[in-house]
Amino acid sequence: MKKSIAIAAAAAISLTLIPLAACKKESGESRSLYRINAAYDEEDKKICGTVDFTYFNATDNEISDLRFELWGNAYRQGASYCPVPESRASSVYYSGKSYGFESVEKVEGCAGWEVCGEDENILSVALSSPVYPGQTAEIIISYTLGLAEINHRTGIAESAVNLGNFYPVLCAYTAEGFMQTPYYSCGDPFVSECADYIVTLQLPAEYTAATSGKQVSSARTGDTVTNVYELYGARDFAAVLSKDFKTATRDAGGCAVTLYYTGDAEPEGCLQAAAESLTYFSSQYGEYCYPTLSVVFTDLGVSGMEYPALTMISSDLDEATARYTTVHETAHQWWYAMVGNDQVNSAWQDEGLAEYSTLCFFEKTPSYGFTRTQLLGTAIKSYRAYYSVYNQIFGKADTTMNRGLDKFSGEYEYVNIAYNKGLLLFETLRTSMGDEKFNSALRHYFSSNFKKIASYESFVASFAHYHDVEGLIESYVNGKVVI
Ligand SMILES: [Zn+2]
Repeated sequence: MKKSIAIAAAAAISLTLIPLAACKKESGESRSLYRINAAYDEEDKKICGTVDFTYFNATDNEISDLRFELWGNAYRQGASYCPVPESRASSVYYSGKSYGFESVEKVEGCAGWEVCGEDENILSVALSSPVYPGQTAEIIISYTLGLAEINHRTGIAESAVNLGNFYPVLCAYTAEGFMQTPYYSCGDPFVSECADYIVTLQLPAEYTAATSGKQVSSARTGDTVTNVYELYGARDFAAVLSKDFKTATRDAGGCAVTLYYTGDAEPEGCLQAAAESLTYFSSQYGEYCYPTLSVVFTDLGVSGMEYPALTMISSDLDEATARYTTVHETAHQWWYAMVGNDQVNSAWQDEGLAEYSTLCFFEKTPSYGFTRTQLLGTAIKSYRAYYSVYNQIFGKADTTMNRGLDKFSGEYEYVNIAYNKGLLLFETLRTSMGDEKFNSALRHYFSSNFKKIASYESFVASFAHYHDVEGLIESYVNGKVVI
């Protein structure tokens, strides 16, 4: 996600091509498979769907129960965890307070199920028999997603229908079991493992869908169009629907980058920024592995939001900010989509790295008008202001970086720790290690965590492999360093 904007570019970093395993089109063999069939009901503002889910047990343990996040329930009346902070509620609920829901009608192929969790956010499914490592089990979930009128990740936005988190998502599995997280409004509380997707969307024929997947078929029956999409090895699948979408497409090293927009002015500069940054990040860190990237301008209460192979960009941004945000969200394809991390407890690992990768792109491509000096200066100024304000108000500023999203006092603190201090950590690592070792460490981090959820320890190990920076990283993360 991108909440705050830094200003503007220069210098050169080494650019080395490295061989990378590209995504193979494979299905169901070594990853879980979602076969989603979802119909958009425009009149009742809801999605009616089924998820035919084949669970592949990639853990070392016997699994008897599955847990899915029902993110749509955060939009319901009476939710304890609302999807946006109270301070932004009036601006995103554009026609007054509005509610959604996510209900489960039935789960077939299991021994039992219930909706539970801290905030009715979890679907718990008892399997008919235990699934041993390397084995699979299939269940079918029938669900309904009611959509609130809101300019946010999931809902009826003013000019489009945003479908982030629109189906039950299997929780990531950790040493403590399935990770169950309520919808923290601060940050992106989504942690999930890579799976395969075959998604069928039924829409009123006048709608165009931007999605994470590659469209493999389309058929029209009466006033309804049925599109089928595929996506392999991705940790989520998102879509945005609109009657007003115009599109522009550009090739970036074999990837079709498509811009979806609704205004009169074609944001050509953003399409260029997405394609050029995708090419740059591919050469710098490792090859982009999905066949398409959809860059979607829509109504959003934040500047941007990332999903695998799809980014949402706020249509309210000025041109320079839109380009910056487009590059930041494209960087998330590396740091979040292809290399995951625990976004709940170490958000800086993807946000700080997305910010720093954005800085590196603009440094390499000065024509966009952003300079390294400016971007660093803005981050330092903002971070020091935060530190000073918190010291004055609370007598102490907590500058630790590995902490849960619920441990931040609000978005101001979160942005300064995850984005700004995160960016400054990477700048310090680069100046300490030198460009060559720094870039090698990032390539190591990418290749050794490709399609996994990278632990903090794995992050440290990738950099320590090239230079003695373990203490430096820890001093930042533990809040000991003075900036
Ligand atoms: Zn971000």
